[in-house]
Amino acid sequence: MQTPVPHIVEVAIPLPLEGSFHYLVPARLSPQVASGKRVLVPFGRRKVTGYLLGDADAPGAGELKEVLDVLDEEPLFTASELDFYRWIAGYYLHPLGEVIKMALPAGINLVSRYRCEQGEDGTPVLKEFLAGGRNVRTERYFLPVADEERRPRGKGLEILEYLLEMGECPAADLRKRFGNCTPQLNRLVQLGCARVEAREVYRDPFRSQEYQHDGPLPLNPAQSEALTRLTAAIEARAFSPFLLHGVTGSGKTEVYLQTIAVALAAGRSALVMVPEIALTPQLVGRFKRRFDCGIAVLHSGLSDGERYDEWRRIRRGEASIVIGARSALFAPLTEVGVIVVDEEHEGSYKQSEGVRYNARDLALVRGKLAGAVVILGSATPLVTSYHAAMNGKLGYLQLPDRVRELPMPQTEMLDARRQKGEVFLPPLIEAMGENLDNGGQTLLFLNRRGFATYLVCESCGHVLRCPNCEVTLTFHRLKGKHVCHYCDFSMLPPKNCPHCGDGEITLLGRGTERVEEQVQQLFPHARVSRMDRDTTRGKGGHARVLKELEEGEVDILIGTQMIAKGHDFPGVTLVGVLSADASLNLPDFRSAERTFQLVTQVMGRAGRGDKPGRVLVQTLAPEHYALARAVSHDFQGFYQEEIAFREEVGYPPFAHLASLTLSAVAASQGEHSADEAAALLQKIKRECRLRVEVLGPVTAPLGKVRGRFRWQILLKGRERADLHRLLFHFRGGFSHPSTVRLTIDVDPVDML
Ligand code: ADP
Ligand code: ZN
Repeated sequence: MQTPVPHIVEVAIPLPLEGSFHYLVPARLSPQVASGKRVLVPFGRRKVTGYLLGDADAPGAGELKEVLDVLDEEPLFTASELDFYRWIAGYYLHPLGEVIKMALPAGINLVSRYRCEQGEDGTPVLKEFLAGGRNVRTERYFLPVADEERRPRGKGLEILEYLLEMGECPAADLRKRFGNCTPQLNRLVQLGCARVEAREVYRDPFRSQEYQHDGPLPLNPAQSEALTRLTAAIEARAFSPFLLHGVTGSGKTEVYLQTIAVALAAGRSALVMVPEIALTPQLVGRFKRRFDCGIAVLHSGLSDGERYDEWRRIRRGEASIVIGARSALFAPLTEVGVIVVDEEHEGSYKQSEGVRYNARDLALVRGKLAGAVVILGSATPLVTSYHAAMNGKLGYLQLPDRVRELPMPQTEMLDARRQKGEVFLPPLIEAMGENLDNGGQTLLFLNRRGFATYLVCESCGHVLRCPNCEVTLTFHRLKGKHVCHYCDFSMLPPKNCPHCGDGEITLLGRGTERVEEQVQQLFPHARVSRMDRDTTRGKGGHARVLKELEEGEVDILIGTQMIAKGHDFPGVTLVGVLSADASLNLPDFRSAERTFQLVTQVMGRAGRGDKPGRVLVQTLAPEHYALARAVSHDFQGFYQEEIAFREEVGYPPFAHLASLTLSAVAASQGEHSADEAAALLQKIKRECRLRVEVLGPVTAPLGKVRGRFRWQILLKGRERADLHRLLFHFRGGFSHPSTVRLTIDVDPVDML
C-alpha cells in the first residue's frame, strides 16, 4: 500500500524571526489551502496567524505541527505581490511575515480574546478564541417578494407597496420614511412578502461629496513634450522611470492627470503618492473632477475600517486610481501602468519604525515588477535623483516656468552676524511693519528641526564641524563634550572661536514661542498666530490654523517647517526666514540639501496671489551655497556644489549607507553589544573582502530615548552588493542579549 504524500506548507509568521516555517496540512483543510491566505498555526505555546506562502517539500514531516485553521476564503495577496514583499524583506533585512503584515490593511487582522470556561476538573480556565476578524460594516436591506395572496394590511401594506415600487431599500431609509416599523417589517418577512439581506457598507472617506466634472487643459509646450514621452513609455509597456522637475505651479499635476488618462485608456491603473495627508483633499478633488472611474484613498488618517473598505474596493477592481501617503504603495492594484511620487524629495516617504522602507525607492521597484511608468515629481529633486537623471538612469522631464506668469518673489539675504541674540534684524522689522500697514499677511518661518543645539560663533558665524566627516558636532550633556555622530571624534567646547579667534561660541537654538513674544511686543495690534507641533495637536489642529490664515484672521503666522509644505496662501506677501541656517547644522550629510529644499519651499509661499511677494532670509551663514543658491532660485548651481561635496567625502550617490542602532536600558550592556557588533562587522568585512567602511560604534545623537541608551554604527559601501552581503552575514551571525534591541536601517534618512 502506498502512504499518502504529506501536504506540507511554508508559512511566514509576523514576528521578529528570520526565515519561514513548515507545517503539515490535515486532510480536512487541504482543499482550502492556497498561497496568500492566512492560517492559524501553533507556535511555541501560542497560536499565531501566519501567511501561507505555498506548498513545500520538507523532510521529517513527522515532526511538523499541524495547521489549525485556514482563515480566509480568498487569498489576500497574489503571487506577484508576494514577489514584491520578498524583495522588500531581502532588501531591508526584515522578516517576511512582518513585511506582509505591514503591507496588508490593519482592519483584517484577527484579535485574540480570552474567555473564562470551566476546565475538566471544574476549575475555571482561560481559553483563547479569535474575534473581530473582519472589520466590515453591514446594513440590512429589504427586498420585495411578489406574492398576491398573502397581502398585509395597514402600514405593512404601505411599506410593501413602497418596496415594490423601489425594488429594494435599506432598513434605515424605511425607518426614516415610516417611523419605527420593525414589527411590520418582521411580519412582511414572515408572510414571505419581503426578504432581508445584509450588505456591506462602504465607508466613504469623502462622505460622498459631489464634484463638478472638468476636462484636460490645453498643455503648454514643456507639458506637451513631457506628456509625449510619458505616453510613448506607457504604450511600450516596459518599466520607465522619470524625474519630472518643475517649480510649484509649473503644471506637474496636470501632467500627472493626463498621463494617467492615457494609462486608463490602455486598460491600466494608476497609483499616486503624496507626502502629506494634509495635502490630499485638494489633490483628491482635482482627480475626482477629472475622472469618472473609481478613486480610492489610502492614508494613515483613515480609521482601520475605512482603510479596509478602500483596500477591498481596490482588490475587487472597483478603483483604478489610488491616491495616498506612503502606505498607498501597497495598494492591491492590478495592471499598474503609472506610479506617481509627488514631492519625491520628502523625507516622510521613509517609514521610521518597523519595516524601514522608503516608498519613493520602492515605487521604482514596484514599477519595475509591474512594467510601469514611474514619475518622480519635484521642484527640488533629491541630489541623488538629479544625478540619476543626468546619468540616464531616470528620464528627465523639465517644466521650467510657472503656468500663470507669476513672477518669482523678490528675495534678499540679511546677514545676522554681529547682531548678538537679536531675533529680528531691522530690515525685517521694517518690512513687517510696512506689510502690516498695507494689509498683507506675513509668514515667519523658523527653521528648527529636532534639537538645533550646535556650536556657532556669535561674531563670525563659524559653526564647529567634525574634521573627519564635515558634519556638525552635537553636544552631549551626559559627557559634556561635542561629539561627531558619524565617527568617534569628540572635543570640549572651546572658549573662543577657532576661526576668527575672538568671537564667543554659543549654543544656538531658538523657539517659536520666543519669536511670538517678540512679534507681539513689536506689533501689539497685529493678530499673531503660531503653527508648530504644540499648537496643532489633535485632529484638525493643522487645518484650523490654515483656515484662520486663509480667511484673513491672522496678520502674522509663525511656524516651523510645517508651513513650508505646498499650501496656497494668496494673501501672504511677505515671508521672513529666521535662522535659515539651523538645518545646515544638523549632524547629517544631507543638511545642505534639506536646507536648500526647505528655503526654496518657504520662498514659494510668497506672492501666490495677485500681489508680488517679498522674501527676507535672515542668516548667520549668508555665503553658504545652500542658502545663496536657494535665494537666487538656482537649483543647477546648488546641485553642482553639492554633488562635488558628496563625491569628495563619499556620500550617496557615491556610496550606499546603512545604520545599525543598538539600545538597552543598561548602558554597559548596550555599549558591550555595540562593540561586539562592530567587531563582528569588521571580521566579516575582512574575511569576505568587502569594500565597506564600518564607522563606530558611537553614542547616537539622541543618546537616550525612552529610557534606553543608544549606540550607532554607520556602514558606508561603494557597492550596494558589498553592503548587503555584510548586513546579511552579520544578521545571520550576530547574537545579543534579549534586553538589547537591534535595528538595521538600510538607506537611512534621519541619522538622529
Ligand atoms: P504643480 O503641480 O507643478 O504645482 P499644477 O498642475 O497644480 O502645478 O498647475 C498649477 C496651476 O496651473 C493649476 O491651477 C492648474 O490648473 C493650472 N494649469 C496647469 N497646466 C495648465 C495649462 N496647460 N493651462 C492652463 N492652466 C494650467
Ligand atoms: Zn566625524
